[in-house]
Amino acid sequence: MGEFGHRRLQIDERYDSEASSPQAIGRKVLSYEETYRCPACASGELSAIALMDIFACDFCRHMFSANLENQSVHLADSLQPMGWQWNGWRWQTAQQSDTAAVVIWAFTLGLTLAPVGIIALSNYVFPPLDSTGFPHMWTALTLGSHSTISIWLLAEYYRWPWYISSRIRLNRLRERLFSSDDA
Ligand SMILES: [Zn+2]
Repeated sequence: MGEFGHRRLQIDERYDSEASSPQAIGRKVLSYEETYRCPACASGELSAIALMDIFACDFCRHMFSANLENQSVHLADSLQPMGWQWNGWRWQTAQQSDTAAVVIWAFTLGLTLAPVGIIALSNYVFPPLDSTGFPHMWTALTLGSHSTISIWLLAEYYRWPWYISSRIRLNRLRERLFSSDDA
């Protein structure tokens, strides 16, 4: 709770410094009458559902419960606790559990660096007799494939908007291809 209060304070300070800048003219307050760019997919438009304290996106179809008092929304239809703070112009991701983030980062860094380190070390300790580019190619291939897996893991955890929207686009393309096969 104390941590959250501290974070609120930081946001408020940033809020104040932005409010006093000349850009403050274009500021928009979070309210049910306005529409906003969806924070989850960054592709759809967020608008309030009539008579409900809930926003919905017309692209990713996610629902968001809103808290107008502290200008924030939370993903209402997902088990993952995702929240965004509206700062007057755009959304800012509210931090997720810090321990989970540390575990994810440690795991992805280990997954990316450990195999490459082992290959590089073995090349150093037992240098190849012939001077082909194979060890370098193998190292690059390992680094490429493992960092792809790491980026995918991070994208799943942080739900980066470009990742969410491209996954939806891919799914819809697949659905369209399947339905045209049936017809
Ligand atoms: Zn969306």
